[in-house]
Amino acid sequence: MDSIETLKLLSSQMTFEPDGEPRVAPSAPACFSPKEKDQAFVHPAQLPNGQKIMLLKTLLSSACERDCFYCPFRAGRDFRRATFKPDEFAGLFSKLNQSGAAEGVFLSSGLAGGGVRTMDKLLDTADILRKTHQYKGYLHLKIMPGAEKDQVYRAMQLADRVSINLEAPSTERLARLAPHKVFMEELLRPLKWVEEIRRTVPAYKFWNGRWPSTVTQFVAGGSDESDLELLTITNWLNKNVRLKRAYFSAFHPIRDTPLENKPAVDPMREHRLYQASFLLRDYGFDLEDLPFTNYNNLPLNADPKQAWARMYLINRPIEINKAEKQELIRIPGIGLKGAEAILRERKTSRLRDLSNLRKLGIVAERAAPFILLDGRKAPYQAELFENSHW
Ligand code: SF4
Repeated sequence: MDSIETLKLLSSQMTFEPDGEPRVAPSAPACFSPKEKDQAFVHPAQLPNGQKIMLLKTLLSSACERDCFYCPFRAGRDFRRATFKPDEFAGLFSKLNQSGAAEGVFLSSGLAGGGVRTMDKLLDTADILRKTHQYKGYLHLKIMPGAEKDQVYRAMQLADRVSINLEAPSTERLARLAPHKVFMEELLRPLKWVEEIRRTVPAYKFWNGRWPSTVTQFVAGGSDESDLELLTITNWLNKNVRLKRAYFSAFHPIRDTPLENKPAVDPMREHRLYQASFLLRDYGFDLEDLPFTNYNNLPLNADPKQAWARMYLINRPIEINKAEKQELIRIPGIGLKGAEAILRERKTSRLRDLSNLRKLGIVAERAAPFILLDGRKAPYQAELFENSHW
């Protein structure tokens, strides 16, 4: 197999791999032939700073010695595997980058020869990219289960983002998904190391003079865990290790794995988990504010912010002309930017009707049932409000 063929195989297999960048339709580097373009996987992606780039998501190797129950790469599963050598991948990616085909890279790997050895290969690749090929673009490195602290530190010196996928919210839950992964020592501890290093080593010692961001991913519904369990650990990670974002990937069965007969999880669950995790991270919500059902899950048919507002704001609407930012962002239809816009606008004028809010980019109909404008409730279409998931 030549390098391009290896890349096509590994990057197409990477569509299975939870990542941390938005999943959208792939496109191909311009230097690929038409046939190659059919199978290439360079994705439009948005970076943490909002910049949009073409991102290559790939594995260094799809060989793996572990046997995680949900994973297509698990040891013994019959499919075509491929492996890059560090300098081979670095040289190939450098060419793609110089041609403008790929502007960033997310690099992960199956485990072969243990976490430390596999991590060394990822670090060698990143090192060759940065030093030999002078690559200055976006690099997201996966930290391998079982990596050592000095490897985590090295990854942080080379990458813009590092990720460690917890997969499940606790030791007990992980055992149902990945019996040979050790939740505390192999997964949670490296996340804590990243934060420990950020707290003790100045930013200028890292790539581009900045600490890399950290993300994780959960297989939602894979271990029959509840949303409350997932959001409890997410909330803890937000507060204690400055997690940039938790990703939730609704479980779907993979043929020829131990969980192949387990039913797929409704993708709406993934969506509700994202909404709730943003409320916890950015909107001042606590876990107790979220509308969990008796089974500790979020209702699939209700946006959690709106469900909260129906319980607490419908009879106590908020006066838009007086509310603090923290109150404004609790109102459905008003996000962080919308709240800022209201505060700015209030310095020069009073907000008297929904059209004033619309001009500020606010979804006024969504906010209407929960607000007062100059002491009066704004008229709204109840039918729209009742039927809306937002
Ligand atoms: S360690 Fe587990 S999740 Fe990762 S590639 Fe191997 S089998 Fe898949």
